[in-house]
Amino acid sequence: MPISVAIVGSGPAGFYTAEAIVKAIEDVEIDIIDRLPTPYGLIRFGVAPDHQTTKKVAQSYAKTAKHENVRFFGNIDIGPDISLDALREMYDAVVLAVGAPTDRKLGIPGEDKIGVYGSAAFVGWYNAHPDFLDLNPDLSGKAVAVVGVGNVAIDIARVLVKTRTEMLTSDLPDYAADAIEAGSIEDVYMFGRRGPVEAKFTNVELREMGNLEICRSVVDPAVLPDGVDPDLEMSDRDRRLKERNLATLRSFTEKEPADEQRRVHFVFYASPVEILGGDKVEGLRLERTRLEDGRAVGTGEFFDVPCDMVLPAIGYLSLPVEGAPFDERQGIVPNDDGRVEPGLYAVGWIKRGPTGVIATNRPDGVAVAGHIGEDFPAPSGKPGRAGFLDYLAQQGLRPVNFAEWERIDAAETAAAEAPTPRRKFTTTEDMLTFLEAQS
Ligand code: NAP
Repeated sequence: MPISVAIVGSGPAGFYTAEAIVKAIEDVEIDIIDRLPTPYGLIRFGVAPDHQTTKKVAQSYAKTAKHENVRFFGNIDIGPDISLDALREMYDAVVLAVGAPTDRKLGIPGEDKIGVYGSAAFVGWYNAHPDFLDLNPDLSGKAVAVVGVGNVAIDIARVLVKTRTEMLTSDLPDYAADAIEAGSIEDVYMFGRRGPVEAKFTNVELREMGNLEICRSVVDPAVLPDGVDPDLEMSDRDRRLKERNLATLRSFTEKEPADEQRRVHFVFYASPVEILGGDKVEGLRLERTRLEDGRAVGTGEFFDVPCDMVLPAIGYLSLPVEGAPFDERQGIVPNDDGRVEPGLYAVGWIKRGPTGVIATNRPDGVAVAGHIGEDFPAPSGKPGRAGFLDYLAQQGLRPVNFAEWERIDAAETAAAEAPTPRRKFTTTEDMLTFLEAQS
């Protein structure tokens, strides 16, 4: 009898864990469960539609999914379809890899106005995430304020200012491409509450902002120091990367304007204090800041920027999973290097918070694979997959298996004309109808 493992969530953290477990444990059966019919989590719904090379990492996840000891069960929602407790009754080990699906709030007045969309929702919308199709953001205004200077903020700014031609090699859904093309956005403001050295974006992403067809990146040269303060403590690597960011920002100031129709303004030392307007957003009030021990502190000087949409890109937030402990303050499942409780483990953003790149999830998976190997030298006699399949059948639930996902994938690819890589299905219903029509 194999050790039975259920992994909840099929994003990078889930797949790296499955990969590590099949390497570490010979006699194992792993079921990767996702509430959506499609695997890969943020690779499909988070990575920007024009960053197709980054999405190629899914090819290695597909290899794991096809491993003889691994099965994918899409369209099964832990909670509504089966409780975590019930899952733990069935499997020796359950690994939570559920990520951080929602948005942190700014916590300032006006956040409930029409035209304020958190990055999880907005990115989900332009990536055809079934949860966010109805967002229908109004892009008819001229100015947008993005709060935050991380990679998600840059992704959002770039997607909003690129032309349809620039997006041809992306899988931006038609409804989003149409809305952006029909929209009137001319100015996107990105607000960092600290300085350019403290900004979280990485250099490749920043450099892209200097190579846009009809958009110029703008930054006030007065906020750019000659170099990173030698007294600031950081690794040599980080220092090099920060210096590179400064050089890139400086290059924006040196480029001659060429009548670009759109502008992205990098505004530093500005912290949002209120979203202005009636029912709808009309502007953002910010306080100028200065740094004290690396933290932004207000100077008491305020300014307003008229805008029609406010997009806080200030980090994602995990949600509690019923049946698992949750640390509200840190927004994670409390754990000791991935161990939560006997038989329950956590990896990825639900384990350590919403930071790091795709590969940061790999060591999480390796650690948990090691723990499961140690904690289960032998199976405990739970039914595992057989019990899960019985339960699904009893409840009349309709899982989507990996071969079915491959059919969805092939149909999406076939529906797109080169150089566009795919036309995504946008609803679960459409995917299930497509599968039924084929069978
Ligand atoms: P992030 O890197 O943590 O950036 C969040 C930004 O929001 C920071 O500039 C932060 O400023 C700011 N912020 C937080 N709270 C704020 C507040 N109350 N008021 C004003 N500003 C506030 O998060 P992210 O951009 O969501 O990215 C999440 C992770 O995914 C990151 O590790 C990122 O690198 C990764 N990612 C990578 C890529 C890529 O590689 N291309 C693409 C997307 C995402 P402070 O620094 O002052 O807190």
